[in-house]
Amino acid sequence: MITVHKVGKLANPVTYERAWRRAQRYLFPLPLRPIVAGLDQDYLGRPFEPMPQLLAIAEYITKTLAICMVCGDPANHTQRLVASRDRVLVGADDMYEARCRHCFDPTLGTVEKPKC
Ligand SMILES: [Zn+2]
Repeated sequence: MITVHKVGKLANPVTYERAWRRAQRYLFPLPLRPIVAGLDQDYLGRPFEPMPQLLAIAEYITKTLAICMVCGDPANHTQRLVASRDRVLVGADDMYEARCRHCFDPTLGTVEKPKC
């Protein structure tokens, strides 16, 4: 039986390998079809773990695109609007927006403004 404590451990894994071992132990024996959602790229457009590994073992994949906030085309990038080198930066509408491949600028989120 899976408990709330075990679900919490699955939702907040320390590493991909640990999450995989936990999923094999607690989720795979259950008669369920897990559904996973998440970003597949980081703010620089690099594969965002563990999505590449999950996509490789998925039985079905539905890739949903947003609308580019600049030109209105289908968008598959997350444009970071504030400068930070942290790979994960939790934020709201003022920190990220959807961009298409033509409007996406990965350097925009890496250049810090000089402090005056
Ligand atoms: Zn665009």
